Amino acid sequence: MIKRKDALILKSYNYSNSSKIIHILTEDSERISLIAKGARRTNSRFGGNIEPLNLSEIVYYIKRDRDMGILKEAMVKEPYLFIKDDLYKMNIAWGLLWIAKRIPDPQDGLFGLENRSLTFLNRGFKEEVLIYFMLSLFHLSGVPPKLNKCVKCGSKEVLFFDVTSGGAVCEACKLGTSFRLNNLLNLLNDLKKGRLREWKEITDSERRKVIRMVFEYGLYHLGEWLNRLSDILPFEIMPKER
Ligand SMILES: [Zn+2]
Repeated sequence: MIKRKDALILKSYNYSNSSKIIHILTEDSERISLIAKGARRTNSRFGGNIEPLNLSEIVYYIKRDRDMGILKEAMVKEPYLFIKDDLYKMNIAWGLLWIAKRIPDPQDGLFGLENRSLTFLNRGFKEEVLIYFMLSLFHLSGVPPKLNKCVKCGSKEVLFFDVTSGGAVCEACKLGTSFRLNNLLNLLNDLKKGRLREWKEITDSERRKVIRMVFEYGLYHLGEWLNRLSDILPFEIMPKER
């Protein structure tokens, strides 16, 4: 059966002398591989429509006994040009696409989250987009950190964040491994809601702390597969000291 869907192109590579294979995330957050026959020819009808990081409308079909489908048509709807202009933003975008490729069980809503995040990057936001993305991904995956009160005793006096406990903790409940938050709790709440401007208001060392905290939370709650993300991102994600 022929299907027509919006899809984010995650990866594309050469296959045989004339074709390409693309990995896509469809609008219903399904990962599919498609062969684009003839895509390597200069006059190919697919052109740049199947390059990674494009949001494209695609037409394809998959035979019942096959894993891989066949691409019939592709048309770019959003090329995210302002990301492609900027190497730093490109690296963050690769990180977001890499997560879509690797996450073991893509949840409903991942497609929307990827595109909202890429739109933020395209508009000029940078590493704060990754924090927004990760906090939203924790929510989609059913492991959102609790930020409003102490996860252990319910106290509203929360000054720390603890990865293994699952969110904010108070002075009495903190562990040796807890991060000191001070004013950063409000920031996390803002970022989670897509209010990214607040990121400019904090210091570099606070930014590094938030990135590290969110990354450690992901490793613990989503799994070790996330570890390789630090090779892709354009900034040091795991510095030695806190
Ligand atoms: Zn407590």
